[in-house]
Amino acid sequence: MSSVPTHDHWIRGRSVGPRDRARIPRYSPADGRLIANAAAGTAQDVKEAVTAARDAFERGPWTSLSGAERGERLGRLADLMQRNLEALARIEAEEAGKPITAARMEMGVAIGLTRYAASLAWNITGRLLTQGGPGRFGLVIREARGVAGLIVAWNYPALCLMQKLPYALAAGCAVVIKPSELTAGTTLMIARMASEVGIPDGQVNVVIGTGEVVGEALTSDSAVDMISFTGSSRVGKQVAAKCAASGKHCSLELGGKGANIIFADADIDAAVEATYLGFTYNKGEECCSSARILVERAIAPQVTEALVARCRKARIGMPLDDQTDVGPMIHAQHMARVLDYIAKAKAEGGRLITGGAQLREGDLARGCFLPPTIFDQVTPRMTVFREEIFGPVACIVGFDSVDEAIQLANDTEYGLANGVWTSKIDTALAVVARLRSGMVYVNTYFESLPQLPLGGLKASGTGHENGPEGLQEFLQTRSAFIRSRS
Ligand code: NDP
Repeated sequence: MSSVPTHDHWIRGRSVGPRDRARIPRYSPADGRLIANAAAGTAQDVKEAVTAARDAFERGPWTSLSGAERGERLGRLADLMQRNLEALARIEAEEAGKPITAARMEMGVAIGLTRYAASLAWNITGRLLTQGGPGRFGLVIREARGVAGLIVAWNYPALCLMQKLPYALAAGCAVVIKPSELTAGTTLMIARMASEVGIPDGQVNVVIGTGEVVGEALTSDSAVDMISFTGSSRVGKQVAAKCAASGKHCSLELGGKGANIIFADADIDAAVEATYLGFTYNKGEECCSSARILVERAIAPQVTEALVARCRKARIGMPLDDQTDVGPMIHAQHMARVLDYIAKAKAEGGRLITGGAQLREGDLARGCFLPPTIFDQVTPRMTVFREEIFGPVACIVGFDSVDEAIQLANDTEYGLANGVWTSKIDTALAVVARLRSGMVYVNTYFESLPQLPLGGLKASGTGHENGPEGLQEFLQTRSAFIRSRS
């Protein structure tokens, strides 16, 4: 019988157990087995980790390395993750309920981001202004902000972490990470790997525990210089208020309610497949989910029929099964919330055309499995159109013109990601220009590059991850005016 892994905090380069032995059990969302026991952190644990990070930052063994040396060690971290990709992916799949194939792919993306962030460490530049007059110079300095608190959601534990951690380290920051207590396994493995590749002790610390205790303590601590937060818009607003009160910089990657706009001239087969993925990938527990499917009315019956047929072919199953493409939802309480949304959609007049109920057959009955679910006959006033459901639930709404499609897509408090499907470049560019979202996918969905910044507009957040902009979040600017005697 294999033993259940214990997730302890990681402070000053070593494991630290919970003070009062308090632990948070993680049960498999697929079959209810106990799969991990996480330390339940306290405010005192946070204080210890922040002090460790502060010491490491002030002592400066990392910050005083050249950008090239920091980049080289981050490259080694990427290599080590690559060698352990399968182990990382299996933990991620089990804890987050992801299909193993998706977990492997996401880990590959996380490794790519680490390599990209390593390259940015070479290119941190300030400016020297030479035109102030004789002997007068202006110096613009870009330097690490200091201690960064990284707060991560449970839906992409490693990927969201690696949209922050290597950028923070490339900049020279020391970090305290607060993963979700449900999915801390890969974060801890990566923190250990950081030590193995020569990132100094105390530079990367992890405190596991709840948001109310550990997250709050981290955002309130005056020794923390900035917070990089990924999570819901509701909690993001609280974090922003706390950061403002204590004068911290914060960047927020928050929720979304994306739209996929399909014009009649699109490649319908490709659009249907990507739209299916757009709201079922990661069982719809996806910030960039395209849960609003906007279809030009002339092709709406055809697209609806094809989407329903595609949903019925979903391979719903156990996370570690290579054949699975939709795994279990994160936990029963979250699934109950999603089922409430489904009930509300029906009550408000939406027509359920596929899915809609928890699976109860065979082995799947022990887990939180929900099939892809679609509503039509939906209006923009309905909750299913407006709120982030964070499950594999989408709605279809028809439109007759470019203007109407854009108006529908922008009719949301969120502004994270949208997609557009058309064979006309003019239509694509017009829609890209007018959509109010940080990311627009054209004739694809979810595809991106490490060089492209990701960030939300409106209630979807402020700041960016990835791209050169992702590094800038962890840098601050100072100026000096210099008068030389000569
Ligand atoms: P939450 O906002 O509930 O939690 C996010 C993180 O914040 C967790 O680690 C949580 O801890 C912690 N937290 C909770 N309360 C506080 C607090 N008061 N102070 C500080 N930290 C706190 O989000 P979910 O975990 O439910 O994640 C889903 C959300 O994340 C969705 O809205 C999704 O769209 C968004 N998201 C956005 C992404 C983006 O790039 N824009 C990417 C991925 C997800 P605990 O787990 O203990 O509650």
